[in-house]
Amino acid sequence: MTTHHPPPPTTPDAWRGRPAAQQPHWPDRELLREVTDGLSRAPALVFPEECDRLRARMAAVARGEAFLLQGGDCAETFAAVTADAINRTLRTLLQMAVVLTYGAAVPVVKVGRIAGQYAKPRSRPTETQGDVTLPAYRGDAVNGLAFTAADRRPDPRRLRRTYEASAATLNLVRAFATGGYADLHRAHTWNRGFVSDAPAGRRYEELTDAIERSLRFMAACGVAPRELRAVEFFAGHEGLLLDYEAALTRTDPRTGLPYAGSGHLLWIGERTRDLDGAHVAYFSRIRNPIAVKLGPNATADQALAYSEKLNPTAEPGRLTFVVRMGAAAVRDRLPTLVEKVTAQAAPVAWVCDPMHGNTFEAPSGHKTRRFDDILSEVEGFFAVHRALGTHAGGLHVELTGDDVTECIGGGDEVLVADLPRRYETACDPRLNHRQSLELAFLVAQMLRD
Ligand code: PEP
Ligand code: MN
Repeated sequence: MTTHHPPPPTTPDAWRGRPAAQQPHWPDRELLREVTDGLSRAPALVFPEECDRLRARMAAVARGEAFLLQGGDCAETFAAVTADAINRTLRTLLQMAVVLTYGAAVPVVKVGRIAGQYAKPRSRPTETQGDVTLPAYRGDAVNGLAFTAADRRPDPRRLRRTYEASAATLNLVRAFATGGYADLHRAHTWNRGFVSDAPAGRRYEELTDAIERSLRFMAACGVAPRELRAVEFFAGHEGLLLDYEAALTRTDPRTGLPYAGSGHLLWIGERTRDLDGAHVAYFSRIRNPIAVKLGPNATADQALAYSEKLNPTAEPGRLTFVVRMGAAAVRDRLPTLVEKVTAQAAPVAWVCDPMHGNTFEAPSGHKTRRFDDILSEVEGFFAVHRALGTHAGGLHVELTGDDVTECIGGGDEVLVADLPRRYETACDPRLNHRQSLELAFLVAQMLRD
């Protein structure tokens, strides 16, 4: 590297001296301090040992021995913290994971965009409707979605609600993952309540029939591994609001090192990845496994610099690059990055986010994405890695277990005209349950090829 950067910060708080993009203008700083002081005394939501375990799993992804599945809402909302909604999201992810594991015979590391995904970066600070201009919605952690001055005013008390909503969600995630429901013997029940006459639903039934036969065969042979009775499920979100993240940062008593206590895996978004900015400074100090989103304008030199700053000891599993270049750009722009990083930097996991480079506005005004563009970006991502002999390490998607009409296309096609029918996202358009399952079958095929 020829560029020089300021020396690395030495304490978890060193980010405070750096420019922090995309932070809310909290109107009441005193109240902010009160709330973050409270959070800094509250129990962490996740623990260092768990984060270390995920880092070990991500090291397997980086080595080409496992595949990461990461998914969930673009923006979680407090209103959607219901047992039913969370359960449907988790079942969708488990179904996708089973399709990938069985279809490609590869271990799948499961991470939700869940239990903390409450803050959003925005391309514009304000939103205008008619002749009224108000602050943009920045996620339930900051303000409200309704287009009123009262809702859009940033309120630091929402950070406390974010913590509580995340804790309630994570409690359900943990119970779900280890309390029997996620037992592979019950894989067929994960499809219940979803539309199973959809093509992907029918395929799923066939697959679980095959799994059940295998399990019965194994049982008859006297093999009943405990691993099949529960799943390992981790939580991740964009580490956007540094006041919140800092308040939940905890020192590991075993080592004296700081960990983000808000989620297992945190990532830096495309809009906040400035090498000299506050986000990179904060992330460089925490011990969690972390990721950086790379858009179409990311350069190989930037990728090398992230590696140097965020993973100076070249620890496998520490750093993941989530590529979100768009279907049109990924085949051209990704190869140089992968080549240079592979040749010159510490090992990383490469993950494909086929959502954020493929967003456009439909004539009705709805932000949407085409299923075919999403698929095409994943195909391009796999093609690049195949050509270079590197590992296409994972998939990062925005999805919901609900039968929404936010992305167009897919097997039983959502049409542009369908968009208003069930457009429920608080931010970006998500794959619905059927589209998610269909994508999993297509990606399993790519992993096999
Ligand atoms: C997101 O993940 O919702 C997001 C805003 O992505 P990106 O930072 O890649 O634009
Ligand atoms: Mn999004």
